[in-house]
Amino acid sequence: MVDPIIQGWCPGSYRPMMAGDGLVVRVRPPLSQVSPAQLAALADLAEDHGTGVIEATSRANLQIRGVAEARFATLLAALDGLGLIAASAELEARSNLILSPHREDSVAEDIAHTLPKTLMDLPPLPAKFGFVIDTGAMRHLATTSGDIRVEGTKDALIVRADGAAAGRRVTDANAAVQACVDLARWFQETGGVGPDGRGRMRRHLAAGAVLPPAWANIPPPPTAAQMQAGSGAVGAGFGLFPAAALRQIARATSHPIRVTPFRLLVLRKADLTGLTHPDLILSPGTGLAAIHGCTGAPACPQATVQTRTTARALAPLLPAGKTLHVSGCAKGCALQRPADFTLVGRDGRFDLIRDGTVGAPPSQYGLAPDQLPLIFGPQNAL
Ligand code: SF4
Repeated sequence: MVDPIIQGWCPGSYRPMMAGDGLVVRVRPPLSQVSPAQLAALADLAEDHGTGVIEATSRANLQIRGVAEARFATLLAALDGLGLIAASAELEARSNLILSPHREDSVAEDIAHTLPKTLMDLPPLPAKFGFVIDTGAMRHLATTSGDIRVEGTKDALIVRADGAAAGRRVTDANAAVQACVDLARWFQETGGVGPDGRGRMRRHLAAGAVLPPAWANIPPPPTAAQMQAGSGAVGAGFGLFPAAALRQIARATSHPIRVTPFRLLVLRKADLTGLTHPDLILSPGTGLAAIHGCTGAPACPQATVQTRTTARALAPLLPAGKTLHVSGCAKGCALQRPADFTLVGRDGRFDLIRDGTVGAPPSQYGLAPDQLPLIFGPQNAL
C-alpha cells in the first residue's frame, strides 16, 4: 500500500487549501452549531463563491469547495459578518474542538467559550491537536479523533488524555478548561511535539509517555451507539448538502442546528415535512446512508481513482445492512471507522479491505473498476 501524504494541517477559513477544483474554505462553526439564518447564508455563499454545495466533514466542520482565489477575500469577509469565524487565524487554530450533538446542559458550551482563548497562553500546539467535548451520561464522540477529551455529566466531569483508559475528575467547566490547558502543557513539556511540529496524544502515550497518576484514575462513561440519520439527524449523500437542501433545513427549525463529525446535521424541535430534497437522508439505511466516499480524482491531487462515482455505481449492489467506503488513497478522509467493504485507490486501481479501516491489510490488491461488483459475491469470485 502506498503511504498517503499527511499534510499535518487541515484547511481553515483563514488558511484555505488549494485542491484540484479551487480553494477549500473550511468553517469551524462556533460551539459546533449554526443558526438557521447562518445556514441559509452559507448556502448562498456556496452558490455565489463555490460549487453550490456545502460539505460536512468528519471534524464537524462545513466547507465550501471550488472557491477562486480572487473570490476568497470577499468570502472571508462574508463569513466574518455572519459570526462564523474566529477573530484571528491564531484563535481559529486554537479552536479545534468538537462538541457532542447530544449535550443537554450548558457545561459543554461554557467550556468551548473559554478554552480557545485560554489556550493562547500556551506555545503553539500541533495543527491537528484537538479537543472533544463529549459531555453527558453516554459518550457519543468516542470514535471521533481528538487529543484531550472532556466527558461525563455536569456533576461528574472528567478530563482524559486520548489513549488513556481513565481521566481526572474536575469540579466544573472552569476547572475542566484549566485541566485541558494543564494536560496540553504536559504533552508539550514531555516531548509530545516532534521536530516537525506534529504530534498526537495517543501516539505520545503509545510511545511510552506516562501520565501522572492523578490524570488516569476515573474511567469514562459508557459509549453510545453510533449516530445515524433519523430522529432529527439529517444527512446527505457523501456529506454533500446542495444549497437548496440547506435552505429547506434552515426553514425547518428556529433552533440552532448542531453540526456533527458524522456528516449529519441535528435539528431540534423541527418540522421535517419540508425536507423533500432528493439528496437528503432522513432515516438509516436509505439513500446513500451506508456509503462513504472522499473527494477523490480529479479534485484531490492525491487520488488516482474516482471515488464517489465508483461508490454510486456500487450502491445498488451493496447487501442490506452493510457499509461501503471508497477512498481515493490510504489517508481515508471520508471515514476513519471500519466499514464492511473498504476500497482504497492506488495507481488507478483499488485494494479491498474487508471489515476494516483504510489502514488495515487488504485482502485483495489492484482490482480494476470492472471487477468491483464481484466484491459483494463469494470471496473466491475475485
Ligand atoms: S482520502 Fe481522498 S480526499 Fe483524502 S487525501 Fe486521499 S484521495 Fe484525497
